[in-house]
Amino acid sequence: MTTLELLAAGYDVVVVDNLSRGHREAVEPARLRVLDLADTEGLIAVMREKPCDAVIHFAAYSAVGESMRVPEIYFQNNVAGSLSLLTAMRRAEVGKIVFSSTAAVYGMPVRMPIAESEPSVPVNPYGESKVMVEKMLDWFDQIHGMKSVCLRYFNAAGADPKARAGEDHNPETHLIPLLLRAVKTGQPVTIFGTDYPTADGTCVRDYIHVTDLARAHIAALESLFEGGTSKKYNVGTGAGLSVKQVLTAVEAVTGRNVPFETGPRREGDPPVLVADSARLRHELNWTPQHSSVEQIVETAWRWMNR
Ligand code: UDP
Repeated sequence: MTTLELLAAGYDVVVVDNLSRGHREAVEPARLRVLDLADTEGLIAVMREKPCDAVIHFAAYSAVGESMRVPEIYFQNNVAGSLSLLTAMRRAEVGKIVFSSTAAVYGMPVRMPIAESEPSVPVNPYGESKVMVEKMLDWFDQIHGMKSVCLRYFNAAGADPKARAGEDHNPETHLIPLLLRAVKTGQPVTIFGTDYPTADGTCVRDYIHVTDLARAHIAALESLFEGGTSKKYNVGTGAGLSVKQVLTAVEAVTGRNVPFETGPRREGDPPVLVADSARLRHELNWTPQHSSVEQIVETAWRWMNR
């Protein structure tokens, strides 16, 4: 999605992916370099193909549950992989990076909405791997002058309105595609926990449309091009939606009932995660424009039916 937005804004883009979890069809063949992050020399060669002004670093494993079972692959791929990338950037003299971080850095936050000043105390190896990279970036700035923007994503959701890109995970673990799949297949989706201290008892999350998320990356990149300092920003709307509210929106958009059952809480799920996104709004002049629950669900539904 960010690649599409970058191209629309006139940037030239090269995409590096090892395709372990990504999809070849998602990128124009001429732009794609199939390469692992561990391949430092390969990354340097890509950065030297033509002038490279900055890196946007998305590459990571991102399944919290998996990270609790096999933390080693999270530290290997997300942390060691990022170190290889930063090493390559140093050697190729690329001094700007936008990094995909996560609300999972906050662990079980106490204050809501969550500001960037809240402590980073992750409760799973996925969140920890992102904190470790954020810290490496702090040191790379202090010692090498490498400038970074860390974007702490809340719940990325929705799809390209033109259905050119969208979620495609295997296995799928995310709420909205699972609700839509339940509508399509008739197989019930499970609501994880109905006894949370929230208005309707289900978990509350801050869903941010991928188009708004992509535009946050461009705003971050441009702040670095304008000489901005290293920063960390939450990317969310500031408004929370419960699982049941999302389910109701799916029924409204699809015009069909969502078959569901209720189950126990999912381990490690905080009751509420809502971003204080004031810093991003004020400093980078960003406002979410596509993140109503209707737009999120409509675009995801169109993508699923593409
Ligand atoms: N959720 C759910 N059933 C599912 C998947 C998710 O009830 O099959 C809930 C989950 O407990 C969380 C919310 O939906 O409160 C969003 O979960 P998701 O996995 O999409 O994103 P996360 O919040 O874990 O990043």
